[in-house]
Amino acid sequence: MKKDLRPDSAKIKTDSASNNYVGFANLPNQLYRKAVKDGFEFTLMVVGESGLGKSTLTNSLFLTDIYGAEYPGPSQRIKKTSKVEQTRITVKESGVQLNLSVVDTPGFGDEVNNDKCWDPIIEFIESQFELYLNAESRVERPCKIQDTRVHCCLYFIAPSGHGLKPLDIEFMRRLHDKVNIIPLIAKADTLTPDECHEFKREILREIELHKINIYKFPDGADDEEARANKRIRERIPFAIIGSNHVLQLNDRRVRARQYPWGICEIENEEHCDFKVLRDMLIRTHMQDLVDLTAMVHYENFRATKLSQLMSGNAKSTTSPLHQLDVERREHKNKMKRMEAEMEQVFELKVKEKISRLNDSEIELQRRHEQQKKKLEAEFAEIDLRRRDFEKEKAEFEYVYREFQDKIQTSDKKKKKNASLF
Ligand code: GDP
Repeated sequence: MKKDLRPDSAKIKTDSASNNYVGFANLPNQLYRKAVKDGFEFTLMVVGESGLGKSTLTNSLFLTDIYGAEYPGPSQRIKKTSKVEQTRITVKESGVQLNLSVVDTPGFGDEVNNDKCWDPIIEFIESQFELYLNAESRVERPCKIQDTRVHCCLYFIAPSGHGLKPLDIEFMRRLHDKVNIIPLIAKADTLTPDECHEFKREILREIELHKINIYKFPDGADDEEARANKRIRERIPFAIIGSNHVLQLNDRRVRARQYPWGICEIENEEHCDFKVLRDMLIRTHMQDLVDLTAMVHYENFRATKLSQLMSGNAKSTTSPLHQLDVERREHKNKMKRMEAEMEQVFELKVKEKISRLNDSEIELQRRHEQQKKKLEAEFAEIDLRRRDFEKEKAEFEYVYREFQDKIQTSDKKKKKNASLF
């Protein structure tokens, strides 16, 4: 029998025998089925200096090898300059499909002068908003717009124990109204529990001081949810330990880091906040992150764009019919351009063919002339030989005739002499 994987809220009792039953209690089931059919899209951005364990963490989070690393050592993606790289994978669990996009920023903060190293990241986030806005404002828009907006940014803080660096503050200040930032203390195994606790307090103090808006957990629909959210909130910034090594502990297999003095299980809440982060990111708050992105960050971007449009800084607004007309004209022009290009290519090909034919005609002509000259030379030689032969023949005939004459004259003389005797 098929297992019912729906959340409890979706398992509505359908008491059709009851007279009071109309059917709208089944609505959550319809939504559930539609959501499963469409699949889910989530874009996660990881930002932090090279070597803080970004790839190790993302691989551990989704239990998959996102970057295709061949060995669990340091990532090979270290770049000299800050740039944005996107990796898309599809993960499936119990029939639910998640189209996951991981956006990495190799080289962030690695230069001597890190001024403006956040620019490519801001550009990327805004370009995704722009794409969404363009798709949304088309007259003929698709039924489901692909959502490539960045829903969450995990910001890795180096485990220095000395609070935030100026780069951390500047980055979060510039990005906090564009994306949901979740700060993480990277490689938390390098801090003792007391140091980690103190470091968390210091980070929170500085975040408040600089008025940085990191992702705020919702209050929760009921007491239980509110308690769970409070428990998560208390752990922020999450102290993270990442590992792609799986160790066998008695009858359990665990992801852990092994040291000469013992092991650290990354999914053990006593050791670090990895499990809390993974649960909130994937199990409990993914939809909230998506909703906040759409309702707050994207709306901010959209409102700014629209106000620019109104003030005439950008393209002027038009009626849908006019826009449809413009789109049609654009399409027509595109087709015309393509036609002209194809014609050009065709003409070029024809010209090439004609030129090749001309070349071969000239070559044939040249060979014909060559053969003709050769034949004429041969004919002249044969003619010369024929004339020499005829001349020799005439000379021979002349000599022969003279010889004949002489014989005849001597015969006559002989006959005459004989008649005398
Ligand atoms: P990235 O450059 O930020 O993607 O960092 P990597 O994921 O490539 O990790 C760099 C190195 O740090 C690797 O050798 C990892 O095994 C190691 N590493 C990753 N996470 C942790 C951690 O939580 N603690 C410790 N001590 N090392 C880690």
